[in-house]
Amino acid sequence: SEVATMMNIPVTQIISACMSLGMMVTMNQRLDAETLSIVADEFGYDVEFITSDLEDAIQVDEDREEDLVPRAPIVTVMGHVDHGKTSLLDYVRHENVIAGESGGITQHIGAYGVTLDNGQKITFLDTPGHEAFTAMRARGAQVTDMAIIVVAADDDIMPQTKEAIAHAQAAGVPIVFAINKIDKPNANPEKIKEGLAAMNLLVEDWGGKIQSHDISAKVGTGVNELLEKVLLEAEILELKANPNKLATGTVVEAFLDKGRGYVSTVLVQGGTLRIGDFVLAGRHSGKVKAMHDERGKEITSAGPATPISILGLDGAPQAGDKFNVFEDEREAKQIAAKRTQLQREQSVRTQRHITLDEIGRRIALGEFKELNIILKGDVDGSVEALTDSFQKLSTEEIQVNIIHKGVGAITESDVLLASASDAIIIGFNVRPMGNANQIAEREEIDIRTYSIIYDAINDLKDAMEGMLSPEL
Ligand code: GDP
Repeated sequence: SEVATMMNIPVTQIISACMSLGMMVTMNQRLDAETLSIVADEFGYDVEFITSDLEDAIQVDEDREEDLVPRAPIVTVMGHVDHGKTSLLDYVRHENVIAGESGGITQHIGAYGVTLDNGQKITFLDTPGHEAFTAMRARGAQVTDMAIIVVAADDDIMPQTKEAIAHAQAAGVPIVFAINKIDKPNANPEKIKEGLAAMNLLVEDWGGKIQSHDISAKVGTGVNELLEKVLLEAEILELKANPNKLATGTVVEAFLDKGRGYVSTVLVQGGTLRIGDFVLAGRHSGKVKAMHDERGKEITSAGPATPISILGLDGAPQAGDKFNVFEDEREAKQIAAKRTQLQREQSVRTQRHITLDEIGRRIALGEFKELNIILKGDVDGSVEALTDSFQKLSTEEIQVNIIHKGVGAITESDVLLASASDAIIIGFNVRPMGNANQIAEREEIDIRTYSIIYDAINDLKDAMEGMLSPEL
């Protein structure tokens, strides 16, 4: 009805325009962006999307140049599977200990900071791979300043190496190559550099501008020099932030801890976050009760480029959700409630749209197969990463639907939902709980659990290929 008023036509005409698109709508229903554009076009209008009033409610003042101070670069490690991303992150995590402080980084909070001997800092996002990077970006969160792309010197430039390069380039993020596994007798770093040159990526040794360093993530050879190159590249970017304002930033991951409640890791990008601040993150809000760094140490404030795990939110926000601090707790709560409502309306609509109209119509045409998935994981970051990857597997013939996803064990209700909607259940680092297995057996529901993202994606891909109609 709002759209009808704006275009000054009777609301019944909008409803019938929607019906002709195969959508049964009521006058109070919200339409998605695509539908809005199509409907408006029918009546000769163009739609221009501006930020919603919800976003407008969150005032972000421009920083003045004199308030800005240098901040640490935020780095993501990407590359082909088994080329050594995790090994590099682990080596840096264990070997780099803040000067004068004992003990390495013991907690996994989704991101961590290291300080080099010269006192300079780097913040690492602790979920390797471009899936997480892309999922965050898909939510509008660009937190990474730079990508380290790991290429194994005993292998080649592989498909995921190319993907990682493409993702970093699409995000406009500079790349530093880490040519890994040089401790291996059959390592040939020159071959990798030659391969990069063939892709028009000239590293410094080859007379180009792209930084690269030969390393062994296993032994540690060259890792410090690699990090120095990261800092050199960061200097060019002149990364700065204003620490003297209410904090803003992005959620890296969140989960429910039995004893402590919802634990969210956030990366502060501007301002300083303090205990007692009222935070709004995605659809959730709350007062920061406690903050811990990646060493498990309790802290009271966190400035720009600092990853921090916080307690006090009333739910688990999603990886990539932005967070803001409010002076007024009520305002944070109101926006959170409104976002929840919007999302509920949206999910009802999407489901009805896909199940009744779209799928029904295409199945009737006899050409459509769909794969429904319920996805459960241990942390939000991996759930988002898998969602993104699974959805990308959709083809003309097969639509991949993530009908439900969430953080936590696979429950009875997940199995029932799967049964009701003919779905398979995929668990990432989580298992069925209570009666879930029993009911799954009775209902003949396929539950698959994985601990490696790549395996989950590959299995699904194979299953889908099995489902494809034979080529004529
Ligand atoms: P990811 O899939 O990219 O995260 O790769 P991983 O870090 O899990 O490494 C894959 C395998 O390569 C593991 O068995 C590692 O021990 C091994 N690896 C990683 N880096 C090195 C290295 O520098 N030298 C050697 N010899 N092996 C390595």
